[in-house]
Amino acid sequence: MNDSQAVPRVKLLIDGEFVDSTTEQWRDIVNPATQEVLARVPFATTDEIEAAVSSAKRAFQTWRKTPIGARSRIFLKYQQLIREHMKELAAILTAEQGKTLADAEGDVFRGLEVVEHAAGIGNLQLGELANNVASGVDTYTLLQPIGVCAGITPFNFPAMIPLWMFPMAIATGNTFVLKPSEQDPMVTMRLAELALEAGVPAGVLNVVHGGAEVVNAICDHPDIRAVSFVGSTHVGTHVYNRASAAGKRVQCMMGAKNHAIVLPDAHKEQTLNNLAGAAFGAAGQRCMALSVVVLVGQAQEWIGDLVAKARTLKVNAGVEAGTDVGPLVSCAALDRVSSLIERGQQEGATLELDGRNPAVAGYENGNFVGPTIFSGVTSEMSIYREEIFGPVLCVMHAATLDEAIALINANPNGNGTAIFTRSGAAARHFQEEIDVGQVGINVPIPVPVPMFSFTGSRGSKLGDLGPYGKQVVQFYTQTKTVTQRWFDENDVGTSVNTTITLK
Ligand code: NAD
Repeated sequence: MNDSQAVPRVKLLIDGEFVDSTTEQWRDIVNPATQEVLARVPFATTDEIEAAVSSAKRAFQTWRKTPIGARSRIFLKYQQLIREHMKELAAILTAEQGKTLADAEGDVFRGLEVVEHAAGIGNLQLGELANNVASGVDTYTLLQPIGVCAGITPFNFPAMIPLWMFPMAIATGNTFVLKPSEQDPMVTMRLAELALEAGVPAGVLNVVHGGAEVVNAICDHPDIRAVSFVGSTHVGTHVYNRASAAGKRVQCMMGAKNHAIVLPDAHKEQTLNNLAGAAFGAAGQRCMALSVVVLVGQAQEWIGDLVAKARTLKVNAGVEAGTDVGPLVSCAALDRVSSLIERGQQEGATLELDGRNPAVAGYENGNFVGPTIFSGVTSEMSIYREEIFGPVLCVMHAATLDEAIALINANPNGNGTAIFTRSGAAARHFQEEIDVGQVGINVPIPVPVPMFSFTGSRGSKLGDLGPYGKQVVQFYTQTKTVTQRWFDENDVGTSVNTTITLK
């Protein structure tokens, strides 16, 4: 970290004001295609975290009583503002994160869909009522907000993932403290500005920046009731354990190794297009990227065509027209991916396509790796066991569909998987037998839309409930069950009932 004054400083959002941090600790936000320093992000001080949480705690007292229609209308306005600012948001995102402008718009759009869903909160936060459970007795549920909630987000979807979190938390009547990724917090801050413009009141949304220390402070804070985390398995496991031990409700969506099965009856051109897009899009930095393909039976002969397809993708800066694969987010990510490719070679996999050190005219300092394909990969190799989070595809072989299913079920991760086939019977068998939470059938990246929930499973998730959709309404509310009796005066009983039954 250097201390140049020239670059803009990212602010904190505390109690409805965008404020300068008083911290001594700053980190550069770097354009991954050029290494230009775009801004500097503060690591918030203990007092600043405290101020954000106490603002959220105060705001909860009035926000929890705000009528559901008023909450809903803020998100109607918010979705409109996001739409109007789509190009601006995408440009900020591409500059700090690296993905292509079109993909950056997709990042914003998938978050926008959750905002639209939040605007329908009047139809989502509904209790149940059972009439006459005993004589004169009705039982009903209230879904009440739980208080101050917090979100911790990763670098790879700096628009979508914050939008998975605070809109639904706030729409259900909670207040929120967000801790975006310190690598690319600028688009998140622009979204926070638009949220205030849409009418989110002071203190209802607060944003603090930082790294491990700020995350730990969130996990430990006694006034925070729930924590939603998205990021790596290592950090997510730490957050889950630490925040749970502090008595919080916690959900952690974590790392992945997503496999696609290709049966020989699949539509070849369609399948190869889908595989290349899902393995190399966003430079492989998606938690739902396809990083392993299992070619079954004669589909093993498609490897040459898969390599040829990957070669057609254009590696360039995300702002350049026609780019398919942008840079990795940081120099550290570039070093990590490059060394994993080297390990793959050392451990005996065949490097069918080596994307290292591509020539990218005009962006010689960018963190680029082009599409990379290994064949002959086995489940003991590092490139199979680790989440590479780069444009690297591992190709494996299986003699039968059941052998491929067994391979996937033996992998600890359970985020997403897909099958490519023309056989309905094979697809249904896969759907029933596969132990992965999100399944695509001829769909390479099966991320559910917000009327469903994100349902990663096994090693990819801790906590029961997903980050959006119906499940998150439960996550951000406490179910209170009310049993009430109203009776006519002439039905009043004359004796004491000492048994447990209601009559
Ligand atoms: P990361 O775990 O490094 O960071 C996530 C958050 O945790 C950031 O806000 C960061 O500041 C914080 N953090 C980092 N190190 C910490 C530490 N030691 N202690 C406490 N907090 C810490 O993840 P990332 O590199 O930003 O994102 C990529 C990862 O996120 C990949 O593993 C990817 O699969 C995963 N991811 C998962 C999903 C999902 O829905 N399952 C979605 C997107 C990304």
